[in-house]
Amino acid sequence: MQEGYFVIFLKNKLQRFIGQIVSRASGKSETDFSCIDFTKIIDLDSFGNLMLVVFNDFFLSIDFGNSGTMLVNKTKKAKADFSLHFPHSEINFYSCEAKILKGKPNDYFQFPTDILNKKFDGELALTKLQQHFAEENIGKALLEKSIFVGIGDLIRTEVLYQAKIHPESLVKNIPEKKLIYLIVSAVNFADELVESYKNDEVQSKALIFEKKICPKDKTEIQIAISAETNSRIYICAKCQKLY
Ligand SMILES: [Zn+2]
Repeated sequence: MQEGYFVIFLKNKLQRFIGQIVSRASGKSETDFSCIDFTKIIDLDSFGNLMLVVFNDFFLSIDFGNSGTMLVNKTKKAKADFSLHFPHSEINFYSCEAKILKGKPNDYFQFPTDILNKKFDGELALTKLQQHFAEENIGKALLEKSIFVGIGDLIRTEVLYQAKIHPESLVKNIPEKKLIYLIVSAVNFADELVESYKNDEVQSKALIFEKKICPKDKTEIQIAISAETNSRIYICAKCQKLY
């Protein structure tokens, strides 16, 4: 899945379009996007891997799925799945799914769960973890969308490694201080990824994700793949304690 930091990075590239009027919206799907024509973009937002383009009484939700991308004033060979056209520019979305939703994003999304949103509520996340996911593995709980939005395989691998917690640890056995450290680390790491994306440095931010050997003790990194979701997590069994 495209992680939240990637969508934020793309959204930040579109700031100059806020206040501009869309001359035409076009898409491959059968959805009728004509309500967007001649309408002003009043804001841009994101929620996990959704980019939200806000108009007066409706908004567009663009799902970046597993491999979505976006190009401004450029095209790929394949036809874009969805495009917004302006008098002198265009934004093209590939491998994305666009939907029109009535009302405001706040009516649909719990922004305090999004680790990249200013409204993220770490205390609420801690409470949910301890009250509703006490018997769950922390590795799985970090992907729980009712607690955290914007965490994917890279972030959960790296923050569990930073916090020295084995992903199979039960939430109830992990000291509260460690859980708080983990939540704060996830927020900070996601912010760093947005910054490093600008400079093409995401790979260098990862210490064990997609790596073979732990940089601290040269232990071989293990990979665990979930049969249900196909998500991957990388583990150093020596550095990360099983609670
Ligand atoms: Zn290690």
